[in-house]
Amino acid sequence: MKIVYTLTPKSRISPGRRAQVQNVREIHEVIPGSVVRGALGTAWWGSPDSRFEPENQAVFDELFARGMDVMAAIPRSGSDAGVREAAFTPFSWVRCKYLPTAECSSQWHDQAVALLSGSSEWSSTCPACRRPVEPAKRGWNVPDEWSVSPVRTALINGAALDEALFTRPAIVKDVLFRGTIQLADSVDPDAIAWLLADKTIWVGGQKSTMGACRWSAEVVEVAAPGISGACTVQLLAPAIIVDEFGAPSLDLEGAIRSVLPVDSPATVTKTWTRPETVAGWHGVAGLPKPTEWALAAGSTALVEGVGAADVGAISAGLGLRRAEGFGQVRIVAMTASMPIEVAADAADSRRRAPVAVQTASPGLLDPLMDMLSGSYRQRTLQALQTEARAISTMRADSAEAFLITGRLNGLPNKAWMKELSADVQDQILRLLALDDLRVVHHELDRAIEEEMKP
Ligand SMILES: [Zn+2]
Repeated sequence: MKIVYTLTPKSRISPGRRAQVQNVREIHEVIPGSVVRGALGTAWWGSPDSRFEPENQAVFDELFARGMDVMAAIPRSGSDAGVREAAFTPFSWVRCKYLPTAECSSQWHDQAVALLSGSSEWSSTCPACRRPVEPAKRGWNVPDEWSVSPVRTALINGAALDEALFTRPAIVKDVLFRGTIQLADSVDPDAIAWLLADKTIWVGGQKSTMGACRWSAEVVEVAAPGISGACTVQLLAPAIIVDEFGAPSLDLEGAIRSVLPVDSPATVTKTWTRPETVAGWHGVAGLPKPTEWALAAGSTALVEGVGAADVGAISAGLGLRRAEGFGQVRIVAMTASMPIEVAADAADSRRRAPVAVQTASPGLLDPLMDMLSGSYRQRTLQALQTEARAISTMRADSAEAFLITGRLNGLPNKAWMKELSADVQDQILRLLALDDLRVVHHELDRAIEEEMKP
């Protein structure tokens, strides 16, 4: 049985990826299955209103030890304009790096299709400018504006503690997460009912202020993918692979071969991989989890000559710790007649056509205005307008995303921001992270004008 779950953060969430280093703590933009699993385990025993009752260790062991593979939770932004999932780019995709000529395409091109069709195009250079292609570097691409990094200061009796200024990135509120759980047939029906019930679970660190998520889940029907011939096997989550002696390995071809039926005629034609280390932070123990080598999400193999039995075997996943979501795969049918150019998506903003925007958005500033009173109101609006204009200018000049993120992260250090409460600061960061700041400029101009009226 397969369940789709949705995590809707009630506040910021910030699941720690590894121990804090130099006062900066990385976060998972994609929440690993292990973190979701841990949050479910805590809720099972400890949730004030939705723990599993009556207490039953055997049912817990059956579910958590053997009965359930929890896949990663992928962020998606659920704005009024529609739902957008984080974009996935398999490592077989390449594109022109600098777009030096007008003929250069900004789209991704799939080397797996080129290989199948016997084309040398995009195998190493862009056909238009003849410069080396740029391969996809990250499996999941979470837009910068989906996370913010407020600087928090540890306070003792209201005074900042020396050396205790640290940055903890967190994911902004209107992003939600979706993932799947694969359940074994042996799982107790009461345990399934518990999983399907709405509840609150706590994901990641700083449990007092962050991490509360609404959990909802439903059973989904899965049809076996009708794939035969050629396919790509794409890792949606890092895979922890070991060789026949149990030593760490980065051999994707070997990992696929090891799950195929012995008489399978399928062959792995090519692989595109990147290594990475995976680690975790054990929130309860306050200790790092062991670090392991893994093939990064996005690693891809082209497999030819597959039949239904092969697809079934591979689709269960690759490598170790699959109950924690490691080694989750997606299998995509491939044919030589497919276009090499990958269908356009919103992932590449480098040549995004200008979109018509509506400049007025009444009510946009209301939450901020409600929290600001008296003399704070006017100077905050003006400081915010100055900051918004600076960011607009950086964007118009195509500044690198990290420069803009860096500026936003530094904002809480500014004198005018320090005067404001954390809630007001959050509202300001939310406004400045909007895709199109023109509406912000417009509404701020109106609000400032309103304030100036005698
Ligand atoms: Zn080019």
